Amino acid sequence: MNKFLDLFKTYDWEDTKSSIYAKTSLDVELALRSKRRSLEDFKALISPSASGYLEEMALISQGLTTKRFGKVVQMYVPLYLSNECNNICTYCGFSYDNKVRRKTLSSVEIMQEVTVLKEMGYDHILLVTGEANQTVHLEYFKKVLTLIRPHFSHIAMEVQPLDLEEYQQLIPYGLNTVLVYQETYHQDDYKKHHPKGKKSNFDYRLDTPDRLGEAGIHKMGLGVLIGLEDWRTDSFFTALHLSYLEKKYWQSKYSISFPRLRPFSGGLEPKVVMNDKELLQLICAYRLFNEELELSISTRESPAFRDNIIKVGITAISAGSKTNPGGYAVAPESLEQFEISDERSPADIAQMITAQGYEPVWKDWDNGLML
Ligand code: SF4
Repeated sequence: MNKFLDLFKTYDWEDTKSSIYAKTSLDVELALRSKRRSLEDFKALISPSASGYLEEMALISQGLTTKRFGKVVQMYVPLYLSNECNNICTYCGFSYDNKVRRKTLSSVEIMQEVTVLKEMGYDHILLVTGEANQTVHLEYFKKVLTLIRPHFSHIAMEVQPLDLEEYQQLIPYGLNTVLVYQETYHQDDYKKHHPKGKKSNFDYRLDTPDRLGEAGIHKMGLGVLIGLEDWRTDSFFTALHLSYLEKKYWQSKYSISFPRLRPFSGGLEPKVVMNDKELLQLICAYRLFNEELELSISTRESPAFRDNIIKVGITAISAGSKTNPGGYAVAPESLEQFEISDERSPADIAQMITAQGYEPVWKDWDNGLML
């Protein structure tokens, strides 16, 4: 197998789905007792049969997370640079066919935003854009990285998938992490939700983590948009992708996020609704499957859910997030990509983490250690 694409094409969605739903309580118990959990164990842990084992899963997950990461939670914040986008995505407020005012931040505006984020205490930043290759392109990213590198010790990006050579060029500019969510591994539904633009190319997106691995990225983040398709099947394919990548690009680190579809202007109703218990089950299943994995939770989730999940297995959390370009200082009233659910300030979230006996970590020392 040269690429994940080759491996992926040997799987059938419906067969995979059936095999997850066929897992029994006995399969779950075997998975819980296993020392080294396989993809079949992961299927059992995300199956409906595991719903009666949540307490046990949460306890194991908590133990594994504390053993590997200690009692710390990394604080990060998104910085939306642009809402320009040439793609139509049925679930996104920035979709090309959504008639909203478009904006890409200038250097001066970026620094205004950065000033506010630094005052909040952030040192780990996630840069976000839509896909507008005329304005938000390689040279723009180089300019932004040059501008903000002195102010942050860890820079992550969630932008359009790039070519291998482009990633190779950005890494020396200080790019540490790239997040690229497949949205759904269901090819027909993927086409339905991405009818226009470069993002409609399923294979190019699916191949992106391979390009990142080849480029030697420090960390990459995977995930799907929960709500587009059956979350259990989509999560299995994410785990399959992860396993493949870890074996092939063992120098890179990996993180997983679990974004659930949120309301936005002109919004799409989820095809599949995942409740809080199911999200808890999924988070625990990932931890039981992979002790090294970083698990990240965003402000899409409710305050109550975020408070309860801190001790279970999460290693990174965002707070005070704005999902509109200029949202912190330049244009606070502009249109958001989606509504956030937890509106508490970074200081409030830090206090909540501390109150649970954990330490909020603002500074990411990875960079220093790598030098
Ligand atoms: S999800 Fe990304 S690519 Fe799709 S419309 Fe929104 S910003 Fe554009």
